Amino acid sequence: MRSIKSLTLDELAGQFKALGEPAYRAKQVIEWLYLKRTGRFDEMTNLPAGLREKLSAEFNERPLEVVRKTGSKDTTQKFLFRLRDGQLVETVLIPASPSLYGEVSDRRTICISSQVGCAYGCKFCASGLDGWKRNLDAGEIVDQLLRVEAESGERVNNIVFMGMGEPLANFDNLMRAIGIINAPWGTNIGARHITVSTSGLVPRIRDLADQPLQIRLAISLHGATDEVRNRIMPVNRKYPLAELLDACAYFRSRRKQKLTFEFILIEGVNDSLEQAAELARITKRTDAKVNVIPYNTVQGLPWVRPSEKVQDEFMAVLRQAGAVATLRREKGHDIAAACGQLRLQTLGNDPQGGGGEKPIADAPKLN
Ligand code: SAH
Ligand code: SF4
Repeated sequence: MRSIKSLTLDELAGQFKALGEPAYRAKQVIEWLYLKRTGRFDEMTNLPAGLREKLSAEFNERPLEVVRKTGSKDTTQKFLFRLRDGQLVETVLIPASPSLYGEVSDRRTICISSQVGCAYGCKFCASGLDGWKRNLDAGEIVDQLLRVEAESGERVNNIVFMGMGEPLANFDNLMRAIGIINAPWGTNIGARHITVSTSGLVPRIRDLADQPLQIRLAISLHGATDEVRNRIMPVNRKYPLAELLDACAYFRSRRKQKLTFEFILIEGVNDSLEQAAELARITKRTDAKVNVIPYNTVQGLPWVRPSEKVQDEFMAVLRQAGAVATLRREKGHDIAAACGQLRLQTLGNDPQGGGGEKPIADAPKLN
C-alpha cells in the first residue's frame, strides 16, 4: 500500500478523481496532513465517512512508528522508528544547532535518514557496517520530519540528509520527498534550508545541480588525495577525486550558494599537514567551505580522533592558506546520535553499545 505522504497535491487530486471524488477533497486531506498535522483518516472530520473508509483501504496512513526516543529536550534527541516492514531507521533532532555555514541563527535541525543501511561501505562509518537493506520511500522520508515535530513539539527549520544511507543513491524518492517538504502546501521549508550530503556520486551530483531548487550540497570528502580517499572510501575508485571536483565545480556554477566539504579528522589517516594544505587548495579552487569534524568513535572500528592540538594545527594550515573553514564539535556524541554514528539497530540490543543512551520515553504501544 502506498503512503499518502508520498503524493503531491496534484497527484492526490488525480487519485481522488479516479475514486470519483472532487479535487477539493485532496486539498482538505493535504491540510490535515501538513497544516493540522494528523495522518489518521478517522480524524479527518470534514470528510464523509465513506471517503475515509476508501482512503484507509487505498493508502497507508502511518509509515513510521516511534520505538524509542533518547536525549532530552534541550539537547540532541534521537528517534528510532519502525517501518511497516519491521525495518528500523533513526532520525536526529538538534535544537539550537550551530549553522553548517557559519551564520548565527536559531536553527532547529533535523538529520534525516534516506535508506535502511548503506551500500557504500566507507571504512569509518557505522551506517554501512551491516550493508544496505532498502531505500526509504518518499512518505517514509517526509514522515520522519512530521513525527519528530509532533513528538518534540519543535518546529524544524533546517534539514540535513545526513542520517543513515546515501541520499543520492535514492535520488527519485529523495527529490519527491524534498518537493513535498519544500511545497507551500506541504511543510514549506525553503530549499536553502535543505542540505543533501553525499559521499560523491558524480552523475547524481550533476542531476542535483540541474534541478531548479536551490538545495544545498555537502560532500563527504574526508581525504584530499585519491590515495587517502581510496583507503577509506570505496566510492572513490568509481568516482575519483578529479571527477568529483569537476562535478562540484559544475554544481557551484549552477548555484548562488557555496557548497560544503565535510572532512572528518581521523588520526594517522587524513590529519597530516600535507592533507590540510591540499584540502585548502581544493576548497579554494571549488569556492567551497570546509567543515572539519573530529572523528566520532564507532564501537568495533579501529579509528580514533586526533588530539585537539593536531586538530588546531590542521585548522591553522587551512586558515593560513585562505580556506573558509570551521571546526565542528558535534552534539549528540554521547547518545550515538552524531554524524556517522547512526546504524542499524535491533530492539533491546543496541549494537552501538548503548554508551550514554538513556531512553527518555517508553515506546508507545505499537499497533
Ligand atoms: N551517505 C552520505 C550521507 C551521510 S552523512 C554521506 O556520506 O555524505 C553522514 C556524515 O557523517 C558524512 O559526512 C559521513 O562521512 C560522516 N561520518 C561517517 N562516520 C563518521 C564518524 N564516525 N564520525 C564523524 N563523521 C562521520
Ligand atoms: Fe554510506 Fe555515507 Fe556512511 Fe559512506 S559515510 S557508508 S556513504 S552513510
